[in-house]
Amino acid sequence: MPELPEVETTVRGLARFLEGERIARVQVNRPDLRRPFPPDLVQTLTGARVTTMGRRAKYGLIHTDRERTMVFHLGMSGRWRIEPERPEKHDHLVLETESGHVLALNDARRFGSVDLVETDGLESWGPFAGMGPEPLGPDLTPRHLKQAFQGRTAPVKQLLLDQAIVAGLGNIYVCEALFRAGIRPDKEAGRVSRPALARLVPAIQQVLSESIAAGGSTIRDYAQPTGELGYFAASWQVYGREGEPCTTCGAPVLRFVQGGRSTFWCRQCQR
Ligand SMILES: [Zn+2]
Repeated sequence: MPELPEVETTVRGLARFLEGERIARVQVNRPDLRRPFPPDLVQTLTGARVTTMGRRAKYGLIHTDRERTMVFHLGMSGRWRIEPERPEKHDHLVLETESGHVLALNDARRFGSVDLVETDGLESWGPFAGMGPEPLGPDLTPRHLKQAFQGRTAPVKQLLLDQAIVAGLGNIYVCEALFRAGIRPDKEAGRVSRPALARLVPAIQQVLSESIAAGGSTIRDYAQPTGELGYFAASWQVYGREGEPCTTCGAPVLRFVQGGRSTFWCRQCQR
């Protein structure tokens, strides 16, 4: 499933082909993904110029000179194919730029989405309203987490996955960040100390930045005919390593299920 680093890398990869470009042709090959495509999608995007691109949580943003932003989510299996050699079955939306670049949004399972939103009103758009700060932005601070966790008895891991507290953090990144920060995933959020929160914020940012950097090195692949969006060969310290020795202390990495998701951690290193 594409996580925040994959979305960020996708946005950077697409920006090379879209920013400043006019969209000459828009082809919609089916009526919907998780929900219907906006009825005015083709009309709004055809002839529009892409001004800039961005990301909010796990959503990609394509801003246009028509004061509308195309917002996409990759769901479970979505990926953009750059300059595809030939159409594929699940290319549901195809954009062609004035200079001839072809970009296809391919989504076999169709859990993704495409919306058109007034650029000025993006912050109050349904999924973005009430969303917490970006994990890589200036608003994620130990102080913010202290306030968000105040008096909360839920496990710290659960609250880090809450989009209202931090936007776009997925299970892998939360496990890895808690390990780096030395915090037990099942610790009551309200009892996590200030020094621990001061370690947690940079740990979150480092885990994400390293993944983005790993993906960045594959960006050139986007220009290849297949334009595949690959998973990054990230090396996790605890995630997916149940029973293997901890990279720090050698104790076996443990796993338990929290809120329906696997949590991986080290009893020695996380307190
Ligand atoms: Zn350990």
